[in-house]
Amino acid sequence: MARRKKIYEGKAKVLYEGPRPGTIVQYFKDDATAYNAEKKDVIDGKGVLNNRLSEFFMSGLNQIGVPTHFIERLNMREQLVRSCEIIPLEVVVRNVVAGSMAKRLGMEEGTPLTRPVVEYYYKDDALGDPLVTEEHIAAFGWASQQDMDDILSLALRVNDFLSGVMMAVGIRLVDFKIEIGRVFEGDFQRLIVADEISPDSCRLWDIETGQKLDKDVFRRDLGNLADAYTEVARRLGVMPKNNQPVTKPTLIN
Ligand code: UDP
Repeated sequence: MARRKKIYEGKAKVLYEGPRPGTIVQYFKDDATAYNAEKKDVIDGKGVLNNRLSEFFMSGLNQIGVPTHFIERLNMREQLVRSCEIIPLEVVVRNVVAGSMAKRLGMEEGTPLTRPVVEYYYKDDALGDPLVTEEHIAAFGWASQQDMDDILSLALRVNDFLSGVMMAVGIRLVDFKIEIGRVFEGDFQRLIVADEISPDSCRLWDIETGQKLDKDVFRRDLGNLADAYTEVARRLGVMPKNNQPVTKPTLIN
């Protein structure tokens, strides 16, 4: 195959020019980073698992009418997605206090929230993705008021969908991050869910045991990350074609 043009390389993914105008090939790497890339490692099989899991969540969202960038999976590590203009915000939805919210507000991790809390972080690695309010977003023109209404509605629909899917397999969706892209259709613009949805960008806790099945396993050195992701994939029935896990699971229930 002819070498494709690389458009962008991030911490966990590479984007290549797609085969048709308006498309991009998203390649999932095995690299794991945390704490703004201060902690780094290569986790065998992570890219394969995240490619499958992101396909599973994004195609499920497409099916219930929540628009996403996902078109089709191409192979073990690559998927075809719609090219879009990424809004420079990380949209975080929380159902349970954890991570930076626990730290910032001095609250205990695991405290359930009485309603989902949606937060916005300005995407800027050099600044460490600072928390921003809708006032900042409006003042700096990162998104319009109409965009913000649409983003909130998308974020809550994704939360309802993912919470339900996870609950059905005994997993609590604690929080997650999504990114939103703008696509232009004639004179109109539409917002869609972009980037990825995977255990890299969610907090997932086993409902019974509280065991962490997400990137905190890597961030906090709690065990083998690929085993945790394989467990999520196994419960959801999302496995590579040969139906074998990409790594041998060693998690004890
Ligand atoms: N998150 C992410 N990318 C980031 C920051 C956060 O995917 O750059 C996800 C993270 O995995 C968690 C949620 O967003 O599911 C909330 O993260 P938090 O603000 O607690 O930050 P953390 O303490 O994880 O850095």
